[in-house]
Amino acid sequence: MTAGEAGVEKSLGAQDGLTKDGERFDYDLFVIGAGSGGVRAARVAAAHGARVGLAEEHRVGGTCVIRGCVPKKLLLYGASFAEDLAGAESLGWHLPARQFDWQILRDNVQAEVSRLNGLYEATLRKHNVSIHLERARLAGPHIVQLANGRTMTARRILLAVGAWPIMPTVDALPGADLGITSNEVFGLAELPRRVVILGGGYIAQEFAGLFNALGSSVSVVVRSETMLRGYDQELVDRLVQASADKGISFRTGTDLRSVERQPDGSLLIGLSKGEAVRCDRLVYAMGRQPYTGGLGLETAGVATDAAGAIIVGEYGATTCKSIFAVGDVTNRVQLTPVAIREGQAFADAFFGDHKAPVDYEAIPSACFSQPPLASVGLTEAAARLIHPVIKIFRSDFRPMKNTLTGRTERALYKMVVDGTSDRVLGLHMIGPDAPEILQAAAIAVKAGLTKRDFDATMALHPSMAEELVLLR
Ligand code: NDP
Repeated sequence: MTAGEAGVEKSLGAQDGLTKDGERFDYDLFVIGAGSGGVRAARVAAAHGARVGLAEEHRVGGTCVIRGCVPKKLLLYGASFAEDLAGAESLGWHLPARQFDWQILRDNVQAEVSRLNGLYEATLRKHNVSIHLERARLAGPHIVQLANGRTMTARRILLAVGAWPIMPTVDALPGADLGITSNEVFGLAELPRRVVILGGGYIAQEFAGLFNALGSSVSVVVRSETMLRGYDQELVDRLVQASADKGISFRTGTDLRSVERQPDGSLLIGLSKGEAVRCDRLVYAMGRQPYTGGLGLETAGVATDAAGAIIVGEYGATTCKSIFAVGDVTNRVQLTPVAIREGQAFADAFFGDHKAPVDYEAIPSACFSQPPLASVGLTEAAARLIHPVIKIFRSDFRPMKNTLTGRTERALYKMVVDGTSDRVLGLHMIGPDAPEILQAAAIAVKAGLTKRDFDATMALHPSMAEELVLLR
């Protein structure tokens, strides 16, 4: 231990940027992990005047920007052309042979990811945040150690290292290492002809829709009969039906038993129900676990729960006074906007003069499946558990665009209302542009508006969103 470290070790409860020995910390704040939460906290704390250091072992931007929401959404823009092109003839367009080139889409998406990565880094540098592109770990309540051995001290440390895809072990599933996760999908050399996806959650539904639209044959293996847990069941049923109509096959109530490489390079997947499926790629989409391994939490007494998530209180406070955590590593709500709010709230509370804890009520969310599904507030099932009188309003309609292109796929909007107060408790939508429409409607739900308020709003015609104010 260096003299500096020894001094800092004694410094728990340090005040005013100085250790107990009167030494100055290297930083007011050191952030480990440059994803959505970490970048926001670093930038805001620096804007408040803090001296901020940050370490990132991969690329600045984190899961959302580098290997999650952003590249996924960009790939989906590419995939959405498939449906538009299929209906183009009915809209008067004569198109030459439709041919899709995965490499072009993949490379253009990666170029955009790199551009955003550069912008994130530039913003941090503009705020004088010192960026260390290395893995970092805790070496004490105020000490961070980089992979190159260098140690630095900080008055406060923020852990924003996110979560990592779960994969089965080879012991649990022979051949498990032949599968990949969402991380690797973005860099695939070729579009697989046949894909098996394990899981029935967000990533499974989104990638099933993506691969299917691009022309792959897709099988989704789900261990139970329930998919997209937490979403309104009626909407999930609608998605599963629409996906099946597009050719996606769902194998429910079954699990993987073995994965074997075949002489032709394909994979043979054995299922617990006794069947076998052949594919070119196996993708695990079975959840993400907090990325706390090797983070040195024990050196600072930072406690975790049974799932390895860092236990936090208000503003991300952990069991160590000088250490805080935000985002997926805390395993509260694994969504980018939540991590950003948590990072902002932490930085404002400790480096600014504004204290506003994060409000976790009525968080809107969407699954960018085909069609997409979006939701805010209570589902019908959850509302019935809490409220004695519940009213349900539905609109089940064929979007106007589908009528000309001959598609039979229908949209479903569902409103859950407290029968006693008339307050709208939840809104659930599946259909084209549902996430775009729901974000605006979520303001009304969050504000506690009533069904009467929705009814009093004039429809904007002709639109799909107008269904929200015409629900009977
Ligand atoms: P999810 O939690 O959404 O779904 C995991 C799926 O895997 C569930 O169907 C689950 O089944 C199943 N599963 C879990 N363990 C096993 C196992 N041992 N064997 C077989 N199946 C298993 O996780 P994802 O990986 O899809 O996504 C991770 C997180 O990332 C999401 O929770 C979400 O917060 C975030 N995300 C958000 C997106 C968005 O906002 N659009 C998009 C992508 C990800 P069961 O339900 O029975 O437990």
